[in-house]
Amino acid sequence: VRDGANADYIPILATVPSDLFGIAIVDRDGKVYSAGDVDYAFSIQSVSKPFTAALIMAQQGPEAVRTKIGVEPTGLPFNSKVAIEIYEERSGNPMVNAGAIAAVSLVEAESEEERWQLVLDNIEGFAGKSLSVLEEVYTSEYETAWGNRAIANLLYNYGRLYADPEESLRVYTRQCSIGINTIDLAMMGATLANGGVNPRTGRAMLPPEHIPELLAVMATAGFYDESGKWMYSAGLPSKTGVGGGIVSVVPGQFAIAAFSPRLNEAGN
Ligand code: GLN
Repeated sequence: VRDGANADYIPILATVPSDLFGIAIVDRDGKVYSAGDVDYAFSIQSVSKPFTAALIMAQQGPEAVRTKIGVEPTGLPFNSKVAIEIYEERSGNPMVNAGAIAAVSLVEAESEEERWQLVLDNIEGFAGKSLSVLEEVYTSEYETAWGNRAIANLLYNYGRLYADPEESLRVYTRQCSIGINTIDLAMMGATLANGGVNPRTGRAMLPPEHIPELLAVMATAGFYDESGKWMYSAGLPSKTGVGGGIVSVVPGQFAIAAFSPRLNEAGN
């Protein structure tokens, strides 16, 4: 499938070779099956969002996600400002930018550095290895993040952001710039498939009783305004990112991840 195009609203993403393609399955025993460009490190982007939502659930319980962020699909694009104005929840759900920036702001931390370290440590825990930020991606996105800055400020205006807006924007943008490869992403999904325990390291990331709530939000909003079509055809709770990553979870069995920079019009 050669339809679609690299994201280019984050300028550096337009320079990633469009023909890269990798696919990986990790099962709940940590066994890896893969093919293609699975070692290429790309930016995690929005595929990070369910995992930071998991951090909030682990820290504060699933009620915090429901009441302080929201769990209703918006039916609108991932970066919608209209959704903030028309829905009383404002932030929608943790899969769209507004809800994901709100999630970062909810992390209990004394400083920006601590907030970032908690977010990074959580993503690393799901991946089962240490990860680093693709600094060029961070700079490229942060320098052009006027839309997300508007979202952070709108949420703050409505009392639906829980930390300083610019700090929340920076930590969110850093989160999106973490470099992962396709196998890392499948391992992150496999942690959800395995009751919240990383199959490689044995680290417990999310209590198993909260996995259904997290997968519910992925199922209803993981593809933004195409979530219905995705569930209709694929039927698996999934999340995409504009870096070209996608992960799907088969609960209790395995996760499947793929990487291909070309996106459709919804950014999936
Ligand atoms: N960092 C990206 C943004 O905020 C993430 C969007 C995405 O992957 N859909 O626009």
